[in-house]
Amino acid sequence: MDRRSVIKNAGIAGVLAAGVAPVVHAQGAAIRWRLASSFPKALDTIYGAAEVFAKKVGEMSGGKFTITVHAGGELMPAMGVLDGSSNGTVEMAHTAPYYFFGKDPTFAMDCAIPFGLNSRQMTAWMYEGNGMKLFREFYAKVGVVNFPMGNTGAQMGGWYRKEIKSVADLKGLKFRVGGFGGKVLTKLGTVPQNIPGGEIYTALEKGTIDAAEWVGPYDDLKLGFNKVAPFYYYPGWWEGGPQLSLYVNKKAYDGLSAEYKAIIESAAAFAHTTMQATYDAKNPAALKTLVGQGVKLKPFPNAVLSAAFKAAQEVYAELNNTNPEWKKIYADYSAFRRESNLWFRFTEAKFDSFMQAQKL
Ligand code: CA
Repeated sequence: MDRRSVIKNAGIAGVLAAGVAPVVHAQGAAIRWRLASSFPKALDTIYGAAEVFAKKVGEMSGGKFTITVHAGGELMPAMGVLDGSSNGTVEMAHTAPYYFFGKDPTFAMDCAIPFGLNSRQMTAWMYEGNGMKLFREFYAKVGVVNFPMGNTGAQMGGWYRKEIKSVADLKGLKFRVGGFGGKVLTKLGTVPQNIPGGEIYTALEKGTIDAAEWVGPYDDLKLGFNKVAPFYYYPGWWEGGPQLSLYVNKKAYDGLSAEYKAIIESAAAFAHTTMQATYDAKNPAALKTLVGQGVKLKPFPNAVLSAAFKAAQEVYAELNNTNPEWKKIYADYSAFRRESNLWFRFTEAKFDSFMQAQKL
């Protein structure tokens, strides 16, 4: 051990000796909070992110800060968690913000909009761009403090009973689709259907609907859609990187010690990373299993993607003209997307496409 590290270590020891009592025990009183999830326990990846978060908060606070996680419908309806965390019925919620696009389409930008940011870009915009700042201002109006907490990565384009060969095949298609994508698909003549996860299989089997999208291979395999709709399309252009959010009631949050606030921020960031990692680790094997069971894996034709892209721009132009909140955030979001895609095309895109073509 050289002289410098001896001095450094002695210094740390001195600080620890002097500071043990006040520093270690400064985390405040024991508290117990409730978190209402929008998701069923069966979605272990998405619902699981809230459990990862609660466990980490417990560990970081030495067991003093306890958070119980409740599945959608347990304390309130799955879609009621924004109101629940806003009015303080629960201190916290975990949800996909695009569920609330009926209240204001701006919510969708805190999750996914068609042809929006991918998972890495979304995290960059939130943490290092203006995303967090803009959405903190947005959510302050409903008394909520938001934190990014999970991303599925780009989703699949869903399950179809018949092939989609052209834009015309989307006309009249009864399609179960989550979030904001329906608004764009409507312009192409598709009839979006709002059906809860547990009822999709039967609707597809009976032909009540023609197609349905859910998440990606890992979650879709569990629901068995391949048995009733053989064509599995990609990519889910309406969900290129949907982000989940943790909502904290603002009054409850403001009453926390600085240490507990830091613990929430760090645990949410940990759960955010964990959820994407879980999907990236679990989807490959699930896709292999599906293909092994005879699933017909198909890319959307470019003409379909281009028509959908054009329709999305029309929707955004309309919102820019009618919704000042949307206009303000979308200006920043779309500028970030443009710059990010200029950069990613040289690096990840080229590297990934080369590596994916190799036989390792
Ligand atoms: Ca989806």
